[in-house]
Amino acid sequence: MTSLPSTSTASGGSAVKVQYLPGGTAANSQSINPKLILVNTGNVSIPLSELKVRYWFTVDGNRPQNYWCDYAAIGCANISAQFVTLSTAKPGADSYLEISFASGAGNLVSGANTAQIQNRFSKNDWSNYVQTDDYSFSSSITQFSDWNHITVYRNGALIWGIEP
Ligand code: CA
Repeated sequence: MTSLPSTSTASGGSAVKVQYLPGGTAANSQSINPKLILVNTGNVSIPLSELKVRYWFTVDGNRPQNYWCDYAAIGCANISAQFVTLSTAKPGADSYLEISFASGAGNLVSGANTAQIQNRFSKNDWSNYVQTDDYSFSSSITQFSDWNHITVYRNGALIWGIEP
C-alpha cells in the first residue's frame, strides 16, 4: 500500500477525490487505460456535469488520439473526453485527457462515489505510448487508491490533486 498525502481543497463547500487503478502497467503500450472512481468527500451534492478530470501524460509522438469509455456505472453515454496539448510542456506532461460528464450523469451526493469509470485512449496509428514517464501514471498502485496526480475541477476551479 502506498500512502499518499491528501490534497483535497475546499471549493464552494465541494470536495471530491480521485481513486485510481491502472488498467495496464506495461511501460510501452498502445493504449492508456486509467480506471477511476470519483468520491464526494464533502457535505454537499455535486452535479457531475460541473466536474472535469484531467489525466496528464506525454504523448510520445503527436498523433490524433481516440478516447473510449469501456465501462461506467453512471453510463458511458454520459461521459466524453477531449485531448489538450499544453502550450508549454511540464514535467511528465505535454498533454492531458480531460473527461467531462453530461447532465444525465446526475448528482454525486455527499459520501457517494461514481463506482468505476474505465477509460481507454490510443493514437490513431496505434503507436506506443511510454507510460513510465507520464505524470498521472503509477505502476505501483495495485488496487483503487487515492491519487493526487489526477486532477479534478469544479466549474474550472481545481478541487483535487496537484497539477504537474
Ligand atoms: Ca509518455
